[in-house]
Amino acid sequence: MSNKTSNLFYQSRAPRPFLDRAEGIYMYDQSGKRYIDGSSGAMVSNIGHSNPNVLEAMKAQMDKSTFGYRLHFRTEPSEDLASMVAERMPGNLDRVFFVSGGSEAVESAIKLARQYAITQGKSSRWKVISRFPSYHGSTFGALALTGYDPLARPFDPMMRDMPKIAAPACYLDRDNLTDEQRGLKYAELLRDEIIKQGPETVLAFIMEPIGGASTGALVAPDSYYGRIAEICKEFGILLIYDEVMTGVGRTGSFLAANHWDIEPDIVAMSKGFAAGYAPLGAVVARETMVEALLDAGGFLHGYTYAGNPLACAAGVAVLKEIDRLSLIDNCAAMGALLKSRLEGLMERYPFIGDVRGKGLLLAFELVSDKDSMTPLPKEYNCYLELVELAYERGLIIYSRRTRGGVEGDHFLVAPAMIVNESQIDEIMGILIESLD
Ligand code: PMP
Repeated sequence: MSNKTSNLFYQSRAPRPFLDRAEGIYMYDQSGKRYIDGSSGAMVSNIGHSNPNVLEAMKAQMDKSTFGYRLHFRTEPSEDLASMVAERMPGNLDRVFFVSGGSEAVESAIKLARQYAITQGKSSRWKVISRFPSYHGSTFGALALTGYDPLARPFDPMMRDMPKIAAPACYLDRDNLTDEQRGLKYAELLRDEIIKQGPETVLAFIMEPIGGASTGALVAPDSYYGRIAEICKEFGILLIYDEVMTGVGRTGSFLAANHWDIEPDIVAMSKGFAAGYAPLGAVVARETMVEALLDAGGFLHGYTYAGNPLACAAGVAVLKEIDRLSLIDNCAAMGALLKSRLEGLMERYPFIGDVRGKGLLLAFELVSDKDSMTPLPKEYNCYLELVELAYERGLIIYSRRTRGGVEGDHFLVAPAMIVNESQIDEIMGILIESLD
């Protein structure tokens, strides 16, 4: 018998109510029930819902034009947004290519890297090393880099899986190393892998500087970042930062790369870029790379909706609001407060094994034994259960069950960058009720 309740189909059968409206960090269903958007959707609605200045800017753009094909016209919103992005990027990353989402940004980064290598006479280089676990998107290219078996394995015969090194899940290590030594130890995995693969075949290394959906806000020790960049330089391998989730302020800095003073060769961004007001993403590279490609005949790549003026007008307005309201500073301050409150829970609940993250990209992980970091039994389905308990009580959080080779339940807590202290109290109140 059919269970059909709608012509739409989703990824699963989990029933959800109809969304009616949303404002700030709150969302309301059609029965009037209020939810705190404790994960900004999927770390997207970074400046909160229904920001009047963003809506105003979008309406003004709508009255002028909603679409202009990029090969037919330049548009002011896309030019303005590109220059605003370039101003905020580290070093010489000043050439921007717009797309409509995170997977498209990662695809574009890979294709840009490969076409650039060809212009440099390095066509033997095609492998993109990534990490396990990791998440880079759902299109075939991005999926080939994604270290998450359930998503990638069914498509093995249809794509070329790429080499992967372990993500720096230091919190699971039980050695006597210092943090700095651990960071270097994990970075050396990249060097080993490059040598194993043959440096002349390796095009790029891609990583989420702070893990997102796959590893639950995993931050590496400081020493990791610089060493990874050094290794890429040593072998002439392009360093791609997937800042789809971490970019545009979410970790308390415009890019997560800024925390370690890294200038990657290519950066992919999306999510918080137009902050849920429009589908928008970007890939950013240096002028030398882009000019080499254009000299060689152009970038053989593109998406119809890329850089459409309505999405770019939303992006411009979002960046202006972030500056006007000093949201990156607020994100850093409120992130520190929320993190310390989450850490406080570790005393109350012996089954919280780890709290991690930066800015407002925070996570906690549940375990059955804290000393050995043994995960809770899979059958408990904790990652779903706790989300449901919180949802019933009006708090939305985001969870996954996976981690470096071993399984475990982690929960991302990532409210919008506009969140204030009393709203953090509200979030913690519901979280504690749900955990109890
Ligand atoms: N990269 C990262 C780091 C992500 O977190 C995501 C989305 N969760 C993507 C890429 C893919 O983005 P999208 O779903 O917009 O295609």
